[in-house]
Amino acid sequence: MSTAIDIQKTSASKIFEVDFNNLPFGQITSDHMFICDYKNGKWQQPQILPYQNFSLDPSARIFHYGQSVFEGMKAYRDDKDKIWLFRPLENQRRINISSERLAMPAFPENYFMDGLLALIKLEKDWIPQTEGSSLYIRPYIFATGIGFHASPADEYKFVIACSPSGSYFSGKVKVLIEEKYSRSANGGVGFAKAGGNYAGQFYPTQLAKAKGYQQVIWTDDNTHEYIEEAGAMNVFIRIGDTLITSPTSDRILDGITRKSVIAIAKDENIPVEVRKITVSELVEASKKGTLKEMFGAGTAAVISPIHGFGYREKDYDLPELENSYASRFKKRITDIQYNRAEDKFGWRYLVE
Ligand SMILES: *Cc1c(COP(=O)(O)O)cnc(C)c1O
Repeated sequence: MSTAIDIQKTSASKIFEVDFNNLPFGQITSDHMFICDYKNGKWQQPQILPYQNFSLDPSARIFHYGQSVFEGMKAYRDDKDKIWLFRPLENQRRINISSERLAMPAFPENYFMDGLLALIKLEKDWIPQTEGSSLYIRPYIFATGIGFHASPADEYKFVIACSPSGSYFSGKVKVLIEEKYSRSANGGVGFAKAGGNYAGQFYPTQLAKAKGYQQVIWTDDNTHEYIEEAGAMNVFIRIGDTLITSPTSDRILDGITRKSVIAIAKDENIPVEVRKITVSELVEASKKGTLKEMFGAGTAAVISPIHGFGYREKDYDLPELENSYASRFKKRITDIQYNRAEDKFGWRYLVE
């Protein structure tokens, strides 16, 4: 059964102002947004409105106590103008896992899916077709309820906004293995897609950038011996022909791209080990020449190859490989996303 959504269309589309052959990532927003407010203990009438500012009380708790979670997903246009999503129910499920950890109310599955599909259909013309581009979709929930009392808000807003985006280009990425700052801690909120996790990452990332690195490799907060994530991406390491990635935990986000890479690796008979990996194992492998690849995995960039890492004032380079795992996984995943290949996993989701 579908949710009745109150739809108010814009009378002044901005689409003609946009250069679809030259799209940045996540900077331009589309004409409409999906909104649903939570009050009196329940989610209210869902709406699609012209994209516009919010009005918030200065005591709204988002400003003070940071109750805010989000998702990142994409809609893809294939060469026959069909529109697809990639594993959207995983995002639906995860935003509620994140919300629960921040004492926020769950958003019903049918509201999420019906709102998402209605919005994408309405914004269909905003989905670009050039290679690597897509409509970036940002669902999020934040506390609108008022009061300076440090307790969970009683009112929230669920929003989906969209951004026609070009491919997420990161250039040659050199990463710094971080031993002082932590992204997350045992028992903390690292597994949630909470806005505050990003706020806490920015400063150590700025310090790494000042030293000439583009990104930080997070290690565990307790010993700083184990590799956990690469910036806001899950991290994979290839030693010999074996692919290694850390197990998810309450410190590591359960990425959909990560899961997809593991499934594809198994499908291609690539040995894959989901286990803890230490920085010393990485450094040893680099010295022995068995360290072949490192890459980040996440929705925005899909796969982001890492060209070298810094550790304790020393730099280690990774080899340039023909036919790398990184490029194989990127091709397999994007071929499924853009309906260029068979989808034996059932990951593609037809919008229309
Ligand atoms: C969003 C995110 C990822 C990637 O998750 P995907 O579902 O693959 O987009 C990885 N790590 C962190 C910390 C994230 O916030």
